[in-house]
Amino acid sequence: MAPTLTLDPRECERARTQRDRRYDGLFFSGVRTTGIYCRPVCPVRPAKARNVTFFATAAAAEVAGYRPCLRCRPEAAPFSPAWLGSRTTAQKAMRLIRGGALDRAGVNALAARLGIGPRHLDRLLRKHVGASPSQVARTARVQRAKRLLDETALPMTEVAARAGFASLRRFNAVFAEIYGRTPSALRRLRFKPV
Ligand SMILES: [Zn+2]
Repeated sequence: MAPTLTLDPRECERARTQRDRRYDGLFFSGVRTTGIYCRPVCPVRPAKARNVTFFATAAAAEVAGYRPCLRCRPEAAPFSPAWLGSRTTAQKAMRLIRGGALDRAGVNALAARLGIGPRHLDRLLRKHVGASPSQVARTARVQRAKRLLDETALPMTEVAARAGFASLRRFNAVFAEIYGRTPSALRRLRFKPV
């Protein structure tokens, strides 16, 4: 299942190699050789085009097995859904999930809020976002936690709770999976924002 990328890959390639800020949040680039995904504004020297795949969303890049870049910090990208028409149900779902809707209740409740069935919601997000509702929620939690790690000195239990994780164990497990590092190791690696 390929996520919908409404931008032309050549346009993404130009934006990526020129670090065009106008495209920040509109797509992410996964680099096959490193397994890392980046914002178009990443300060690291751009990878060779033949190793790059473009994704509409951070969640889609993670579903494909890429880890977030520690330099350009995909969690700091603006929410700019170029991959959707305006005001669609999928876009509304994304906003609610990013706001924590799936941390407090399940997919059924979210679907009901949107006036559709849970299976329809699942299909809609896979098609437009390239990830299931729970995968989108996981990426959103990780991004919230990563921002708190970088920008605050809050204790880990507090970061986990505020980011929407059910437990500290779950927080550590998801970070190990997504970043291949513990939250405290990541906190020691703070980079200047780009
Ligand atoms: Zn990067």
